Amino acid sequence: MDELTEKKRLEALREELHHHNHQYYVVDTPEISDFEFDQKMRELISLEAKYPEWFDPNSPSVRVGGGLSQGFVSMAHRYRMYSLDNSYELADLTDWEERNLKLAGQDSFSYVCELKYDGASINLIYEDGKLIHAITRGDGAEGDEVTANIRTIKSIPLKLKGNHPKYMEIRGEIIIPHHEFDRMNQERIARGEEMYMNPRNTASGSLKLLDTKQVAERPLECLVYGMAAAESDLLDQESFLIAAQTWGFKVPDTFAFCNNLSQVMDYVAHWGEKRQELPYETDGVVIKVSRKSQQEMLGYTAKSPRWAIAYKFPSQQVSTVLEGVVYQVGRTGAITPVGQLTPVLLAGTMVKRASLHNADQIELLDLRIGDRVFVEKGGEIIPKVIGVDLASRMPEAQPISFAHNCPDCGTALVRVAGDAKHYCPNTWACGVQIMGRIEHFISRKAMDVQGLGAETVALLYHAGLVRTPADLYQLRPEQVLPLERMADKSVAQLMLGLEESKKQPFHKVLFALGIRYVGETVARKLASAFGSISALSSATHEALVSVDEIGDRIAESVISFFQDPRQMEWVQRLSDYGLCMEELQLEQAELTELLSGKTIVISGVFTQFSRDEAKELIRINGGKAGSSISKKTSFVLAGTDMGPSKKTLADSLGVPLIDEHEFLRMIQKV
Ligand code: AMP
Ligand code: ZN
Repeated sequence: MDELTEKKRLEALREELHHHNHQYYVVDTPEISDFEFDQKMRELISLEAKYPEWFDPNSPSVRVGGGLSQGFVSMAHRYRMYSLDNSYELADLTDWEERNLKLAGQDSFSYVCELKYDGASINLIYEDGKLIHAITRGDGAEGDEVTANIRTIKSIPLKLKGNHPKYMEIRGEIIIPHHEFDRMNQERIARGEEMYMNPRNTASGSLKLLDTKQVAERPLECLVYGMAAAESDLLDQESFLIAAQTWGFKVPDTFAFCNNLSQVMDYVAHWGEKRQELPYETDGVVIKVSRKSQQEMLGYTAKSPRWAIAYKFPSQQVSTVLEGVVYQVGRTGAITPVGQLTPVLLAGTMVKRASLHNADQIELLDLRIGDRVFVEKGGEIIPKVIGVDLASRMPEAQPISFAHNCPDCGTALVRVAGDAKHYCPNTWACGVQIMGRIEHFISRKAMDVQGLGAETVALLYHAGLVRTPADLYQLRPEQVLPLERMADKSVAQLMLGLEESKKQPFHKVLFALGIRYVGETVARKLASAFGSISALSSATHEALVSVDEIGDRIAESVISFFQDPRQMEWVQRLSDYGLCMEELQLEQAELTELLSGKTIVISGVFTQFSRDEAKELIRINGGKAGSSISKKTSFVLAGTDMGPSKKTLADSLGVPLIDEHEFLRMIQKV
């Protein structure tokens, strides 16, 4: 290619990647596979490396990060970033409206209600549709310039679409969705690191990281709620929110236009109930007078706009008395101290227990039995103790001396340097650990054994029938039937569940083994890097740490697991019983005619391959992937979440449904 062609190609790639990024991260309807996206990104990066003179700070390639900041400079906001007045009672809203009506000499207002996203506020400055600066709120007059970090956040458009003011400041909140936050914490626990306390602090902390690559890896999102601009022809808040969506911003669809205050009250009541179902943290509702002209009549106080107010939901934090501490043993032997509380109502549920994390945390908070403590409900199910009311401490409050022995088996606890947790070392005879490992093994994200739950595991354990997960596959119906609450049907379901679980792919089996620090993500990485249990179990430390994101701690844990003959014994048995001990190898596939003449429609999602890989499998085995079900369809390759209408259509046309396992059998992959 000559230089001109390459320049055109580079520009086309930038456009395409901006578009696909928006499809994926903002509107959630990807048009190409991750693989194709990565290919294009790689091509772009190599062209940019070849032609540094064509550098563009807003190229999609900045999303991947790279480059260290020296620190942050502070920068003034051209338009002040205000706070919001808070209200805690519905009556405050009525007062607020009355005051405003009088002040502006109006008869009525219409409002827009939005959720109050709980993260870090950001000011995004665009000129001619290009992001030029991003500044934190700071003190409202000036904040830190964090543009390089902000450019890595994929839901923030670097180039805008459509018609927009020439200069404008977009106001949004940087947040981390609950499920991503939980995943980050799971991974931290698996690596033996301290958990993050809450999504808000982690989000704002992330903006101040010096390494943009690290920021790019954080699951940050930006939710947009406002704009400041000198010239804008948008007449009200809801036109703005809609326009912002067309420019490429992520504006949650939860906002609502309200004709009057009573509709506002309905909105508040609705989200007060439903807020737990939201994918991200919210601490209230923001109510805004919608019309620009009326907003201008009302103006601002020194601190906040008069035309907007935040209604805060009742607190998710309460104080109560710490009555005692009990200790729980996890499947890895890790001990978690749990505070026993005087029962207290928190966000609609009665709370009696709260996690105290570990000995260090107890010391850090300086907790004593009898203290009045603050308890907060975060994204997790178990609330946590976040602080002590030192002012009300009783002189007789007793310092907590951490347990010396396992509450289950009595073995002396051990603590390894560099790990905040205490452990019960009695791995092979500590009942709670044994049951915990089996429960982990059968859990949904691991082997997903249907028909088996914690209660049955306990029954099986106490009857002496299982000591390791491998024992499950040796169970005979006549052994299980005599157990409490077991009947023919439940036994049959259990047997079927176990049989079905043998179809779980290798990375899930690996996760199910419960190797310390090997969480879901790490299991996937190890499975694809080593391909099989035999390769993994003989991998050297060096080979392990050469895998992306695998450090010394994980490597050591993997090695010591497989070096233990008692572990190897049950893992070997799992392999003998037919569990999947190898990763499906798509790359090495050879062309076959196994599906020749067949037209196959793919529907739903699969555990062992992506939809794109399914298409690829069909192609290399001589079949054709069809896009819609018709009489000509040979069968539907049906995953989970297949649409009910598709299923009805397939049934009515007599087109069979084939599940992924059967499909793999057809193409002789299992
Ligand atoms: P406060 O920090 O309590 O003064 O509240 C003001 C902050 O709420 C703003 O700086 C925004 O970062 C944040 N906020 C979150 N959601 C919204 C929203 N929908 N509209 C306006 N501000 C919001
Ligand atoms: Zn024990």
